[in-house]
Amino acid sequence: MNRSSVAISGAVAILFLSGGCGGCVTARYQGSKSDHFDGMRFFNPDNAAERTFAEFLKWQFTRQTKDWPEDPSAYGKPLPPDAIVPASFDGARDFAKVTFINHATVLIESPGLNLLTDPVWSERVSPVSWAGPRRFRPAGIPFDGLPRIDVVMISHNHYDHMDLPTISRLEASFKPLFLVALGDRDLVRSAGVPADRIVENDWWDRRLVQVRGPGDPVEVHFVPAQHWSSRTSFDRNLSLWGGFFIRWTRGSIYYSGDTGFGGHFKAIRERIGSPDLAILPIGAYEPRWFMREQHMNPDDAVKAHLELRATASLGVHWGTFQLTDEGYEDPVRELTTALKSRNVSADRFFVLREGASTGVMSRQSTHDARAALGAGVGDPGP
Ligand SMILES: [Zn+2]
Ligand SMILES: [Zn+2]
Repeated sequence: MNRSSVAISGAVAILFLSGGCGGCVTARYQGSKSDHFDGMRFFNPDNAAERTFAEFLKWQFTRQTKDWPEDPSAYGKPLPPDAIVPASFDGARDFAKVTFINHATVLIESPGLNLLTDPVWSERVSPVSWAGPRRFRPAGIPFDGLPRIDVVMISHNHYDHMDLPTISRLEASFKPLFLVALGDRDLVRSAGVPADRIVENDWWDRRLVQVRGPGDPVEVHFVPAQHWSSRTSFDRNLSLWGGFFIRWTRGSIYYSGDTGFGGHFKAIRERIGSPDLAILPIGAYEPRWFMREQHMNPDDAVKAHLELRATASLGVHWGTFQLTDEGYEDPVRELTTALKSRNVSADRFFVLREGASTGVMSRQSTHDARAALGAGVGDPGP
């Protein structure tokens, strides 16, 4: 077992010891039963494949974790160049600017409205500050370098997505609106956010968010994902998980949150539409026998991109925290392979270096630009 495995196992041991009284579980959400809620716990309607504690132990004792370098600065070397689209943003052309902070933290800036996905600036993603998966690379923008943040979207309560110290800092600095999943309000309140600025969401809920200054409100939909939730060993699936689909008058961005590949991508396209940019996880996927149901690998992510008929996709959730067994560069390398095998051009599904930005233009603008370049007219395709 290498150093990283030891760290992760230590955090896991803490996690399993930190839950308090197992018989004292109380519901975090009180509401009607649905196709993904049994009155106490949430579940995945299409795929009930739950990993058992025995399977978890099997993974822990058989895992073959690839080493990540001891020295994070070793990662300063360039990533595979054909997997990267150079940063570009054109304020006249693009309706939004998207900046990769790292892991699943993405800054979305648009006129009168700045949003963050799953903000994490802490050094570790763990129940405790002194153990657990540690950060291998610094955030692409230091916390103090953030612009004003209006909306924080938190997809689920895993530590690498809901970081309470970061939430406290965001609250102190910006007093934003927090959009969370059903059952997560009290956790966010515990970080010092007043209840009236925390909005819990069920799948397919739609919120209208007013922008600062003139401009149409922005629609934010909470949409299904195939995943799970927990903060301790005793609160599994007491809160929901999901993704966000944000729609401006001029275009749309979808952030999937953590998810396995499933029928929800097609359902989202059919109910809401195809996004101009999909932000999809490409890391935390090995070993497949354990992770497949709840974490996509790069090939699954390319399939999701195609199912969504997204104009472009950005790969996230890799290279920051070592959560699973694949190596640091494997997600990007395997993304390149998957794009080739599925005949998707590299400029349609890319990764960004931390702190780098890309502009997002509307589908119509993409259509016009491609037509002007003589690149063909019609559906933007894969
Ligand atoms: Zn997760
Ligand atoms: Zn995650």
